[in-house]
Amino acid sequence: MTVAHRLDAIYEDVRQRNPGEGEFHQAVQEVFQSLAVVVDRRPEYLDAGVIPRLCEPERQIIFRVPWIDDSGKLHVNRGFRVEFSSVLGPYKGGLRFHPSVYLGIVKFLGFEQIFKNALTGMPIGGGKGGSDFDPKGRSDNEVMRFCQSFMSELYRHLGEYTDVPAGDIGVGGREVGYLFGMYKKITNRFESGVLTGKGIGWGGAQVRKEATGYGTVFFAQEMLRTKGQSFEGRDVVVSGSGNVAIYAIEKVQELGGRVVACSDSSGYVVDESADGVDLELLQEVKEVRRGRIGDYAEARGPKASVADNGSIWDVPCHIALPCATQNELDLADAKTLIDNGCVVVAEGANMPATPEAVKLFTESEVLFGPGKAANAGGVATSALEMQQNASRDSWSFEHTEKRLAEIMADIHERCADTAEEYGHPGDYVLGANVSSFQQVADAMIAQGVV
Ligand code: GLU
Repeated sequence: MTVAHRLDAIYEDVRQRNPGEGEFHQAVQEVFQSLAVVVDRRPEYLDAGVIPRLCEPERQIIFRVPWIDDSGKLHVNRGFRVEFSSVLGPYKGGLRFHPSVYLGIVKFLGFEQIFKNALTGMPIGGGKGGSDFDPKGRSDNEVMRFCQSFMSELYRHLGEYTDVPAGDIGVGGREVGYLFGMYKKITNRFESGVLTGKGIGWGGAQVRKEATGYGTVFFAQEMLRTKGQSFEGRDVVVSGSGNVAIYAIEKVQELGGRVVACSDSSGYVVDESADGVDLELLQEVKEVRRGRIGDYAEARGPKASVADNGSIWDVPCHIALPCATQNELDLADAKTLIDNGCVVVAEGANMPATPEAVKLFTESEVLFGPGKAANAGGVATSALEMQQNASRDSWSFEHTEKRLAEIMADIHERCADTAEEYGHPGDYVLGANVSSFQQVADAMIAQGVV
């Protein structure tokens, strides 16, 4: 059997063992597409059975999360934690609270996280968790009760040397606070390093909140640099308006770019003002009022208009930063972006481009930065938070941001060098997958069949 056939057979087995988990299949296939070149050179990866082991999480936890809303009604949600790989360090990855969450989503995110975390060069394994709980429209007290119920089960699986969650969609500073409070109460330990994304005054790290968005822009900046370009004077589309999008917009603006559109699940806004999106207003609408993107357009005045049909990717731009959610940019969007002269796409979200879109980007002149590289700044800064917690230290904003910028430049270099070494210069997908896979696979072989 050829290498490609052997990889196909493993993939088929993964599909059959994990029925109905489309996003997980997609994430596995995306990595497998890059592996033939490396397995060709290093057949021991296949012979040692590393790949099937890598596709099976070390542990999967599913649990009941009962809670009572403000009107006294009982709700039962489902909680998940998929501890995917601890070969490079404690399981590390966020928690997502969103009604779309089911095992297939958590496994796709956990699988991606293994490689993303390896790329950071920090000692962290891969995991992910969450719940189908919908925080939208819920009061602070309801969110608190939900988080407490969630942690009353999850705590037994966590620990600074075991598993260290953080935020993701629907889980920000407020939720991490409630989760940490409950963990501390149950265990009677102020174990700072058990969660990241904590508040600055009680063990949190500077820049963690901004890190995923800033990191994506730093990565895109490195990509632009290879073309002798920068953000200065460029139009940029940033999808989403959550934590990743907001801080991506902030950094783009600092670097002289103009953000002309952003979005949420209800639609997108095109802002034709000379300075683009008004970040302060967007933050007020999304973070304080917890409102919809239409409220932003209304408050912004005639230069901003909201669209609820079509796609945000129809808006002409030089640089596109998908920062919303998985599969938000499809083949038709990729074609439009290319036709409109887009030169760089960097994924701030996890797997926002569909496989067909990624294929088109990598075959075109567009430089495409996959999420596991381009959005690794968030988890990298989580690792910096763990480092500060372990040494009971806290670093300044400037120092931490400098470290983040260095880490993103290192990841860019690592992806670019690997792509070059394997004869596909400029293919960041191949570079990210091959380089991180090799690191994880080598560690697995060294640690034996466990
Ligand atoms: N949820 C983020 C991610 O997708 C961050 C995870 C973390 O900081 O542990 O990488």
